[in-house]
This record gives sequence, structure tokens and C-alpha cells, in this order.
Amino acid sequence: MAFRDIRLIGDPVLRTPCSPVTTVDDRVRTLVADLLETVDHEGRAGLAANQIGVGLRAFAWNIDGDIGYVLNPAVVATSDETQDGDEGCLSVPNLWFPTKRASWARVVGTDLDGAEVTVEGEGLMARCLQHEVDHLDGMLYLDRLERGCASRRCAPCATSERRLGALGVHERRFVGHTGLTPLSFATPVTVERVGEDVTRATGGST
Ligand SMILES: [Zn+2]
Repeated sequence: MAFRDIRLIGDPVLRTPCSPVTTVDDRVRTLVADLLETVDHEGRAGLAANQIGVGLRAFAWNIDGDIGYVLNPAVVATSDETQDGDEGCLSVPNLWFPTKRASWARVVGTDLDGAEVTVEGEGLMARCLQHEVDHLDGMLYLDRLERGCASRRCAPCATSERRLGALGVHERRFVGHTGLTPLSFATPVTVERVGEDVTRATGGST
């Protein structure tokens, strides 16, 4: 069991769909132990296997003191009602963007013994479940942002572009979004904290 480093945007493992877990062996048991240990940290709401460099379909959550994991998760149901809160990602540190998600979601998968596991919830849990399954499909929440102004004269867009640039990301498709008001801009943090604790007072990154 180990506290693992988080892979950051730009790492190909985050853009590669993860493979199903077909056999529960020592590698998978170690993966689950590492996910649980690594997600158990202030400001961390969820963690997908590829965020610690393992291309298998598994994630862990840490919501309101409840920590758990699921293998081979699939989102099987979501509410029509949506939520628009800020979302962050441990692999895209220091940025949060308003991201539309279903208000409620249910995920079904299995545990290490092969038993079926159902995880469901609303609010942050729903956001986490959708965010983590996206990770396992090689997606980042940035892909889901609504595109908006994209003006080079827009101060928030320029700030997001600069911060992403500091992470080595220079894709303009990731800047210039509708309602770009990351709360993190109000409490500046430095890029030296990348890979460290990238938390906010409320919510969490996943
Ligand atoms: Zn994430």
C-alpha cells in the first residue's frame, strides 16, 4: 500500500481508455489499496486508476468521510436534473470550472471478491461518479466545459490560459469558457504546489 503521485494533464495515460479488470490478482489488490490510501487526503473527492498511472478500470471516492472503491464501474442511471457547480481535477491542479453534471448518478461495478457493488448519490458524489468514469474512458472534465467567449482580451480566460501554460498545456480549446469563474482565482496558489495538496476550502478535486 502506497501513497502515489498523481499524473498530470499532458500525460498520455490520462487520455488512454482503461482496460477492464478481468482477473483479481496481486496487481489489482495493490491498485485498490493504493487508490484508497491516495484518495484519503484532505480535498480529495475521488481518484481514478489512470491518475496514478495504472490503465485499469477502477476508482476510489472520498465523500463526506465515506471512502470506497469500485472495479469495472459503469454509470447505469442519471437524473434528468443537472447541477452546475465548480469542478476540479487532481490532474489539472489549481483550476476549477463550472461544469454541468447530472444531479444524481448510480454506478454499478464489482469489488475485489467479484460481488456486485452499487454506488449512488447526489451533489458531490454524483459529480465524482461521473468524473471518475470519464477518467477511465480517457476523458477529462475540461472536455465537458461549455465553450464561450474565447476572447484573448477576457481576463479570466487569459488567467486560465496562463495557468494551463504553466502546466505545459497550450491547447487553446481549454480556455475561453462560458461563465469562467473558478473560485481558485480568488485565492491564488502557485504552480510550485503542483503535485502537492491542491485543495480548496470546500468541495474537492477528483
Ligand atoms: Zn479528475
